Amino acid sequence: MRAIRVSRTGGPEVLEGCELSDPQPSAGELLLEVTAVGVNYIDVYRRTGLYPVPLPSVPGTELSGTVLAVGPGVKDFSPGDRVATLDARGAYAERSIVRADRAVHVPQAVSPDVAAAVMMQGLTAHYLVTDTFPLRAGQRCLIHAAAGGVGLLLVQLARRIGAEVFATVGSEAKVQAARGAGAHHVIVTADEDFTTAVEAIAGKRPLDVVYDGVGRATFAGGLAVLRPRGMMVTFGNASGPVDPVNLFDLTAAGSLFLTRPSVSHYIATTPELRERAEAVLGLVADGALDVRIGTRLPLDQAAEAHRRLESRETSGKVILIPNGA
Ligand code: NDP
Repeated sequence: MRAIRVSRTGGPEVLEGCELSDPQPSAGELLLEVTAVGVNYIDVYRRTGLYPVPLPSVPGTELSGTVLAVGPGVKDFSPGDRVATLDARGAYAERSIVRADRAVHVPQAVSPDVAAAVMMQGLTAHYLVTDTFPLRAGQRCLIHAAAGGVGLLLVQLARRIGAEVFATVGSEAKVQAARGAGAHHVIVTADEDFTTAVEAIAGKRPLDVVYDGVGRATFAGGLAVLRPRGMMVTFGNASGPVDPVNLFDLTAAGSLFLTRPSVSHYIATTPELRERAEAVLGLVADGALDVRIGTRLPLDQAAEAHRRLESRETSGKVILIPNGA
C-alpha cells in the first residue's frame, strides 16, 4: 500500500512517500481502507520532535474509512462499516489499523471527508466549551486562531451557547471566515495588539475565559485581559510552547485559573469518546455545526499539507485523500 513515512525529525520534507505491506488487525483491532486523513497540528509537533515518537513511523491518527477486516474478539464493527477515529496507528496511508474501542460509527448524513475533518478538532472544541471551562450564555470568551480548524468549530459552539465571542485571526483574509462562524468581534493580530483591541471594545479585563491554541505568542496577553478568577485554557503551541509560568503572576492578575488540557484525557474511556463523538457528529448531521474543509490534497502531498498549515495560510481543516483529491 501507499503510505507516508517519517524516518527522522525535521521540516515537512521528512514526510516521504513509500510502499509498505498492508497492516494486519490483531485481537480487538480493525483494518480500515482509509477514505480521508485529517491533518493536525499534533502531527507537526511529532514531525519536528517537539512531541517525541518512536521512528521510523507512519504519521497521523485521524481518519475516516471503511472496515476491511476485524481482528478476533471485535463485536461492535463488521466489514463494510463506515468509521472514523482520532486514534489510528498510522493514518497517513491507504490502509490503517485502529483499536475497535477507539473507533466510532459515522452517521449516513456525514460524508467521509467531514468525518475525518471533525474528529480531532470537533471533539476538542466540544470538550473545551463543555468541560474545561463550561461556557454559559452571556459570558465573554476569547478564541485565538479563530479561522483555523479548531477555531472555526470553537467559535460556532461558543456562539451557540450564547457567549459573546472575541476572536483573533492572523490576517485580513481570515476575518470573513471567523465572522461567518459567529464571532462578534474579530481582531487581526497583524494590524493591532489584541489586548488593546479587546479592552477598547469591552473595558478593562473583561474576559471570563481565553481559549488559546497559539501558545507562546499570545499567552501573556491572554492573562492580561482575564477578569479576576477567569480561566486561561492554553491548549496548543502553534507559535511555540509557552514559557515556564511564575504562579504568583496568576495571583497578581486576580487569582486566575490556568489549565493545559489534552483531548486524550477528555475521551479517555470508550463511553466518553463515543458520547462526545455522537454529540459532535449529531450536530454536524443536523446542520448545526459547519465543518469547513479549506485544503484537500492527495496523500502523496503530505509535506505540502504541513507546509501550508505551518505557514498560517490555511483556514478550516486540512485533509489528505489516499486515492487522489
Ligand atoms: P489551525 O488550523 O488553527 O492552525 C494553526 C493556526 O495558528 C494558524 O492558522 C495561525 O492562525 C495560528 N498561529 C498563530 N501563530 C502562529 C505561528 N507562529 N505559526 C503557526 N501558526 C500560528 O490548527 P489546528 O486547528 O489543527 O490546531 C489549533 C491548535 O489546537 C494547535 O495548537 C493544536 O496543537 C491545538 N490542539 C490541541 C488539542 C488539545 O486537546 N490540547 C487537540 C487538537 C488541537 P492565524 O494566522 O489566524 O493566527
